[in-house]
Amino acid sequence: MSIKCFGLPNPASICYFNSLFQVLISSYKFVLVNKEHGKETSILRKICNDLLNDKFDVLDYLHLIKLVKNKTTQSMSNQCSDEYFITMMDNIAQPIKDLFTLQIQIKHSCTKCTYNVNTTETTIILESTYQGPVVNSRQLEYLKRADEKCPQCDGKHIVEYLVTKTSDLLYVLVQEHKKPRTFPETMQLCDSNYELIGIVEHFGGLMGGHYTAIGKRAGQYYLFNDTYYKKLEHLLTTGQQRIILYEKSNIVTHS
Ligand SMILES: [Zn+2]
Repeated sequence: MSIKCFGLPNPASICYFNSLFQVLISSYKFVLVNKEHGKETSILRKICNDLLNDKFDVLDYLHLIKLVKNKTTQSMSNQCSDEYFITMMDNIAQPIKDLFTLQIQIKHSCTKCTYNVNTTETTIILESTYQGPVVNSRQLEYLKRADEKCPQCDGKHIVEYLVTKTSDLLYVLVQEHKKPRTFPETMQLCDSNYELIGIVEHFGGLMGGHYTAIGKRAGQYYLFNDTYYKKLEHLLTTGQQRIILYEKSNIVTHS
């Protein structure tokens, strides 16, 4: 089950949203859950309903990006795919948000004393840093806390993140990297196997630039650049990766 490829219009510097959208609809499940559980009057719900029937109404999409533009100016300084994802999640029906929700155990410990505290939290974003994938909440406070000193002594305060419940969709936010990173096409996290289904890429600097996307449709990777799209022979990224989307393919069974 897969959504057909469609190019998307870019009437108003909306490439950041077009790219995010192409990545999200590469998940058939995302489209299906939007169609079934999206807010009744939501234009996104109508678009998803059409996509499931291999249809795409450009006027509906233009209506959607008008709403996106309104939300963008209210809450964001930059036009940025990953910032928009958070805005989108704040305004979307709970069953859709649930697709992305991971449960994380956070273990705080000290290298010098007996300080040892465990907490459990949920997040919709997995963050990738130089050290490898670590999870933070949407506030970025866990990363900061990792640099703090132990609350009991002067020792180094270590924070470990363990995924204790996986999600259907794994949204990985890529931190700025000097060197391009390669992300595996398939991977395992806890008891689940995941498949890479989309990448949002950025070209250019902070003050301007362009977003494109790679999305997997019917087992093939495609490059999406606003109205243009083409099939890729290999998964190849040339810009700076910003978002990687994985979809759960199956649960690992141990015999
Ligand atoms: Zn300590």
